[in-house]
Amino acid sequence: MTSEVYLDYQSAKPVDPRVIDEMTPYLRDRFGNPSTLHNVGDLATEALEESRKTIARFVNSDTDEIIFTSGATESINLGIIGYAMKNKRKGNHIVISEVEHISIHNIAKYLERQGFNVSKVPVDQYGRVSLSKLERRLTDKTILISIGIANNEIGTIQPIEEIGKLASEKGIAFHTDAVAAEGLLPLDVKRDGINLMSLSSNDIYGPRGVGVLVMRKGFRVNPVLIGGGQERGLRSGSEDMPGIVGMRAAAEIMEKELPEEVKRFKTYRDRLIKEILGTVPDSYLNGHPEQRLASNAHIRFEGIEGEALLLSFKDRGISVSTGSACTSKTLEPSHTLIATGLLHEEAHGSLQLTVGRFNKDEDIDVVLEAVPEIVTRLRDMSPVYKRKK
Ligand code: PMP
Repeated sequence: MTSEVYLDYQSAKPVDPRVIDEMTPYLRDRFGNPSTLHNVGDLATEALEESRKTIARFVNSDTDEIIFTSGATESINLGIIGYAMKNKRKGNHIVISEVEHISIHNIAKYLERQGFNVSKVPVDQYGRVSLSKLERRLTDKTILISIGIANNEIGTIQPIEEIGKLASEKGIAFHTDAVAAEGLLPLDVKRDGINLMSLSSNDIYGPRGVGVLVMRKGFRVNPVLIGGGQERGLRSGSEDMPGIVGMRAAAEIMEKELPEEVKRFKTYRDRLIKEILGTVPDSYLNGHPEQRLASNAHIRFEGIEGEALLLSFKDRGISVSTGSACTSKTLEPSHTLIATGLLHEEAHGSLQLTVGRFNKDEDIDVVLEAVPEIVTRLRDMSPVYKRKK
């Protein structure tokens, strides 16, 4: 790690050194292609099938329900577009929530251009979907619901098991983007009634460029990549064996370490929230106070610009975020914060702190010392912030 204090684990995570050790042989002498039949190829085939088994155990699916992809975006494309195209004769209506990741909103726009109708379920002030609102949007044309397990910006956890139950009662397929929840909540497609689940390797400290779509039996998708027919014809292209082995190693570590890690993250998160809200006037927590990811503190400061906040932290060697990494270089306010009812100017003044595996107590101390100083300085310069007496 660099000397930066890094509290932006939701945007990117370093690869765990133990994962790199497992990957290295597959970059060197175990370089084979699983599609070949000689000994070098056999080593790759074995590693591919072992990795499939581990990931299946990690999400409680069957082994033949795991499809390796190039990452979460591809998994989501395959899960949503692939399912929609395969099932368009059954219906042309899809339901997502207003707080889905930008990739899902853009897929929704794409599908609308292909003749599908997409409904977006609103959320409450904490970013949670209400089951009754979801149910009201379902029609006899609805073929798919896609709602993420947790929000990647404000950390709110959705009532996934209940959504899965509702989808199953109505005979509608349920896809979930599990990316934000990976490594923070135990994943279980059977318990939660999930039919299609998108995962990324980097979110469990594996390499970027690898992901998985879990496709439960009876919920087949059309391929979106056409080629040599790997992954049972559903995802063509020679398998990225170092990446896949890396994802397996990352999942094995996560299976053992998740409960302890989550405990440690919660102490960091709760300290950040409590001390910032306690020391900085006119600061508010975004997202749900309890149903939130263990790693996420998302705080709004009245009268402050997110960009100015971020740059002030950057000057001090602290990496934090103001929103989703995928859209933070645009000047648009976060669609998630707007969906929770914030005004544009309110949505701009938020700070997203996400902790992870390599944080130490001292990192939290550094950030807690910096926050009140930075906020006070920016407010002193702000023409809009009128200090309340
Ligand atoms: N879903 C969520 C919730 C995300 O945060 C991200 C970005 N990390 C993605 C999907 C897309 O992932 P990727 O850019 O790795 O394909």
